[in-house]
Amino acid sequence: FSFFYAYFLGNPKEPLVTVPGNLFILSAPSGAGKSSLITALLKQEAKQEADSSKRTLAVSVSHTTRAPRPGENNGEHYHFVSVDEFEKQIKNNAFYEYAKVFGNYYGTSEAAIDKQLAQGIDVFLDIDWQGAQQVRMKRPTVTTIFISPPSKEELEKRLRGRGQDSEEVIASRMEQAQAECSHYNEFDYIIVNKDFDQALLDLTIIVQNQRLKCRQQSIAQQALFRKLLNNDAQEQN
Ligand code: 5GP
Repeated sequence: FSFFYAYFLGNPKEPLVTVPGNLFILSAPSGAGKSSLITALLKQEAKQEADSSKRTLAVSVSHTTRAPRPGENNGEHYHFVSVDEFEKQIKNNAFYEYAKVFGNYYGTSEAAIDKQLAQGIDVFLDIDWQGAQQVRMKRPTVTTIFISPPSKEELEKRLRGRGQDSEEVIASRMEQAQAECSHYNEFDYIIVNKDFDQALLDLTIIVQNQRLKCRQQSIAQQALFRKLLNNDAQEQN
């Protein structure tokens, strides 16, 4: 009865069922500008969230066994755990996906993601191509995006950074970046990050594209369509 009451007698202007969030994967070789793009997208969304007082987008916080870098906080950038703890969670099937990247474990907690999606929050997974493959198998509706550097020269320039690393380290980073790039054609979308503003716009369009899909809009706009269809019925009578 309570469902009937909520569904038929609730405020007709409000969507009665929460629109489930969309799941996105963002993969890129390091040096492609992925982190800056996510940060800018979150900032852009925060402005809209302030207007609507509703959280709309989040970036999943992964678990990792690698050590925190200076400035990284536990629970904010990653959940930093021991190898034992990570392997215990693998046994408990706690991960949506996990992979060994550069010798360390990285994984996405299934419960945390599902909770956010059920609350109507769009969730971005910042994971590598191995994780993307696993999530795609489990959830074929996931939207996957690959961020590419504009050229090999530019990638090398970005990986050289402040010029403090040895040639050996840079060569190894280039090799890792090339391995990530070799999976570019497994993704739904490719954004070439040549011009940052354009890349951010491209990313925004992809997110908006998912939000406007009929499957989402038919829930978000159910009050509107109920009204439109009733009006139609009255006119015909
Ligand atoms: P970093 O150690 O530089 O933060 O991340 C190294 C790599 O691990 C990046 O390519 C990043 O996308 C990937 N990564 C971070 N979290 C996860 C995760 O939960 N799962 C997988 N498969 N890869 C991840």
